[in-house]
Amino acid sequence: MTGQDRGLDGRSTDIPSGAGVPAWMASTLNNCSRCGAVLVFGAVDDDHRDRLVCPACGWIAYVNPRLVVTSLPITDTGQVVLIRRGIEPAVGAWAQPGGFLEIDETVNEGAVRETLEETGLLIEPGEVIGLYSRLEAAVVVLVFEARIVGGSFRPSPEATEIVAFEPDAIPWPEIAFKTTYWALADWLRRRHPELRPGDVVTERRHWEG
Ligand SMILES: [Zn+2]
Repeated sequence: MTGQDRGLDGRSTDIPSGAGVPAWMASTLNNCSRCGAVLVFGAVDDDHRDRLVCPACGWIAYVNPRLVVTSLPITDTGQVVLIRRGIEPAVGAWAQPGGFLEIDETVNEGAVRETLEETGLLIEPGEVIGLYSRLEAAVVVLVFEARIVGGSFRPSPEATEIVAFEPDAIPWPEIAFKTTYWALADWLRRRHPELRPGDVVTERRHWEG
């Protein structure tokens, strides 16, 4: 898989399925949360796959992807709001607002909270544009299309610039993440099938929020 392309089966990941816990994540799961013994990766009774299990007390460290909730805020005139990232990764590139879902909130609440924190805009989440598995990062990225119902642009160290782009002026070469690219492409196919994802129009129009 190269550039912003998806895999042959449309999969939204660069690595094969079924490879177990990513190494970077396994390295943070060394000890049993219950008794502290060293975890071992291996077979577990009545389970179809190997797990990280505690040989001392039998506790199993189940690991699942985390959910990242994001939005594509759309202005009344149909522009899509992106933020220029002020922090790594992908500092300086454009992304949609979003972040990790907290354990005690719904996906809608998470998207509203993250978007408010990162843009100053109050949104009302609408259609789900996409759900993208990123096995390498152990996340699933949810992207809502969202209506802007309040607030105003509020740049921050995290989001140094906030811009509403015309659908034909999306800064494709400067998009931060594959999931951002795919979400914008999926949104464009749905709302503006006459436009092609990746077509570059240099003119950029700002919306005074
Ligand atoms: Zn244990």
